[in-house]
Amino acid sequence: MPTDTPGLTRREVRGKLGLRGQATAELVLDGVRVPASALLGPAGKGFSVAMSALAKGRMSVAAGCVGLGRAALEAAVAHATQREQFGRPIAGHQLVQELIADIAVDVDAARLLTWRVADLIDRGRPFATESSTAKLFASEAAVRAANNALQVHGGYGYIDEYPVGKLLRDARVMTLYEGTSQIQKLLIGRAYTGVSAF
Ligand SMILES: Cc1cc2nc3c(=O)[nH]c(=O)nc-3n(C[C@H](O)[C@H](O)[C@H](O)COP(=O)(O)OP(=O)(O)OC[C@H]3O[C@@H](n4cnc5c(N)ncnc54)[C@H](O)[C@@H]3O)c2cc1C
Repeated sequence: MPTDTPGLTRREVRGKLGLRGQATAELVLDGVRVPASALLGPAGKGFSVAMSALAKGRMSVAAGCVGLGRAALEAAVAHATQREQFGRPIAGHQLVQELIADIAVDVDAARLLTWRVADLIDRGRPFATESSTAKLFASEAAVRAANNALQVHGGYGYIDEYPVGKLLRDARVMTLYEGTSQIQKLLIGRAYTGVSAF
């Protein structure tokens, strides 16, 4: 649909906690007339078209969370093995290794859940619930991973000299868009019980 379509307005969203390298805009459609050539599906079926896009979108968010978690892991390992306190690398402390192990397990589990969705899509099988499962776990795991990586960095994690603060800011939106974590839980609960709690 052309951007100068009557009734369509855009407004740049400023002041985001994260994703500062990406522009975000609010689109408002007020009485917009959509030509047949711009229809994405049958007229009146827009909700199901939007929902089907979300199911795949959730896998994409999960995949992004795996990448973010991996970056958190790499940053945490690099810092823990290079930073020395009292004559030894902080990686030699058991509780620092716990932080790193927690990140590694979260990233691995998120990756496997995401691969499962991709495999189901490749085989033409239903994947919506598995996509919600992957998105829910991977997004919450990305926040935990970035937060744990920041902890490994100590005070350095809180300043822009290191990447982990940015990772935490960027991770935070993952539990919100493409359906919040609460909405994913309602979708998964409905799929298992057949009862909608919406
Ligand atoms: C950077 C960014 C980019 C975005 N990009 C897009 C985009 O490209 N396309 C798009 O369509 N949207 C986009 N969004 C919007 C995003 O999808 C919504 O913010 C998100 O779905 C939550 O909706 P809301 O903000 O209206 O929160 P609300 O619906 O007001 O929810 C607020 C809180 O209440 C909870 N809640 C709401 N309803 C229920 C319920 N029934 N049961 C239990 N808990 C509930 C939510 O989980 C949440 O914790 C973007 C948002 C951001 C921040």
